[in-house]
Amino acid sequence: MTYIITEPCIDTKDKSCLEVCPVDCIYDKDEWNQLFIHPEECIDCGACVEPCPVDAIFADDEVPEKWQGFVAKNYEAFDLEAP
Ligand code: SF4
Repeated sequence: MTYIITEPCIDTKDKSCLEVCPVDCIYDKDEWNQLFIHPEECIDCGACVEPCPVDAIFADDEVPEKWQGFVAKNYEAFDLEAP
């Protein structure tokens, strides 16, 4: 399991989540319009959910239907194949 960052992060990139992640698995790149969580590094602690001011982060099995596409986007950001 991993946590997934969804649409509200786009053009927000608040980065509060970066400060609380115990394993530094949330990444930003200038060319990205949102942050992404590395699915293989995330330890599923959930610490990043509450600090996000736009409620963009969900456990992968709790991503709202309208944002399901972000599951694959998070994997593809790291050249990984979505499950
Ligand atoms: Fe980091 Fe925990 Fe959020 Fe995964 S769930 S991205 S390990 S803070």
